[in-house]
Amino acid sequence: MAARIQKLLQQKPGEGEITVNGWVRTRRDTGSFSFLEINDGSCLSNLQVIADGTLENYEEEISKLSAGCSVEITGVLQESPAKGQTVELQAAIITVIGWADPETYPLQKKRHSLEFLRSISHLRPRTNALGAVTRIRSRLTIAVNLFFQERDFIQVHTPIITTSDCEGAGEMFQVSATGEKKDAPFFGSSAGLTVSGQLQAEVYAMALGQVYTFGPTFRAENSNTSRHLAEFWMIEPEMAFCDLECNMAIATDLLKFVLQDVLKNCVEDLTLCNKFIEKGLLQKLQDVVDKDFVHLTYTEAVEKLQDVKEAFEYPVEWGIDLQSEHERYLTEKVYKCPVIVTDYPASIKPFYMRVSDDGKTVAAMDILVPGIGEIVGGSQREERLKVLEKRMKNAGIDIEEYDWYLDLRRYGTVPHAGFGLGFERLVQFATGMSNIREVIPFPRTPGFAPC
Ligand code: ATP
Ligand code: MN
Repeated sequence: MAARIQKLLQQKPGEGEITVNGWVRTRRDTGSFSFLEINDGSCLSNLQVIADGTLENYEEEISKLSAGCSVEITGVLQESPAKGQTVELQAAIITVIGWADPETYPLQKKRHSLEFLRSISHLRPRTNALGAVTRIRSRLTIAVNLFFQERDFIQVHTPIITTSDCEGAGEMFQVSATGEKKDAPFFGSSAGLTVSGQLQAEVYAMALGQVYTFGPTFRAENSNTSRHLAEFWMIEPEMAFCDLECNMAIATDLLKFVLQDVLKNCVEDLTLCNKFIEKGLLQKLQDVVDKDFVHLTYTEAVEKLQDVKEAFEYPVEWGIDLQSEHERYLTEKVYKCPVIVTDYPASIKPFYMRVSDDGKTVAAMDILVPGIGEIVGGSQREERLKVLEKRMKNAGIDIEEYDWYLDLRRYGTVPHAGFGLGFERLVQFATGMSNIREVIPFPRTPGFAPC
């Protein structure tokens, strides 16, 4: 394998011959030689290559290289006299592997809008911005797994095809085999793509104590917003012997841990985002790591919002589901930091959330962050069989179908809690990208799934 540029840039010059593979970003000719900027995706920085006019294919090939061409280069690292880099590669051999016609290649040197780049989702990872986002996303995945590993959580792969609709909002995609008969469905009953791994995670939490699932989730949301995708990834821990307080503590620690991790491990990419995507990003992330989150109840949140002079599109009164405009007002205007809202009305939350002693609210918690609104949604789960059955009946849920779920309360039930952290919203927050379509490699939204 050829050396990766990220490692090379940290090396000292003069360690013998080195081979790199990559794509040309730019070529600049000066008299008797050319400078090539080579990128291999391992990091944001390019490797500067000196291509001497005496190289045997200089006239024929090297002098015709343009953005996007792929090359293999062998040479020696030497100290660079140029500012902003320590080493450069003096090429001995440059082999052109693939040409990229400059007449048609869409990624020329000028800056492109993110909207335009979305229309070429097969080429956009070659840009600085999308490359940076992809590397940050990858590091966040590692950080999430590290966090849970350090706390002795066990990862569970919950199913993608499911026959239970956790949220019950009818936002499911149906799954069927080609040509399957209506009265003889492939899975014996109607199936869909999962909207949440929570119920299955609960099964494993009742056996292994502390588990998490981190996988793709599907919702047929017909809303074209900058924060919703039809296919997104979710991190869902589920903890036995854990109440709402413990749930909030884990969610807070998780957010702080993963943001601290990328602040340490993605300096170059985050600095780019700080400069071109969201001014002040680095400070924003550091503040989240350092400062306490604000806690308030839904009732307090409603009171705060009712005091607001500005008119909201959706008027606020006790019992409504908080809209994005309300969530963002609280976290951006009132507190200017992450906010945890707890104790929502039972009537707007799903059946599995634990009913509080007041009989009106449930032990739910949402975490709201500036620029996004809800990033985490979680709750303590209803562990009392009778109460759960009653809520399910009231919600019009077929109890027979959830008999397996009720078994968890029949046999060795315990207080337990968990939450869902939307992974793309986390990547949005970490990179400052205002549209969620930029933080997943291949976004799926209504009318859009090109490749
Ligand atoms: P919202 O009110 O923003 O639509 P929700 O209340 O439907 O979210 P939950 O069911 O609580 O979301 O899901 C847990 C988390 O998953 C959310 O806090 C959010 O971070 C993320 N999420 C939910 N729906 C989407 C979506 N369509 N695209 C991307 N992330 C999502
Ligand atoms: Mn929610």
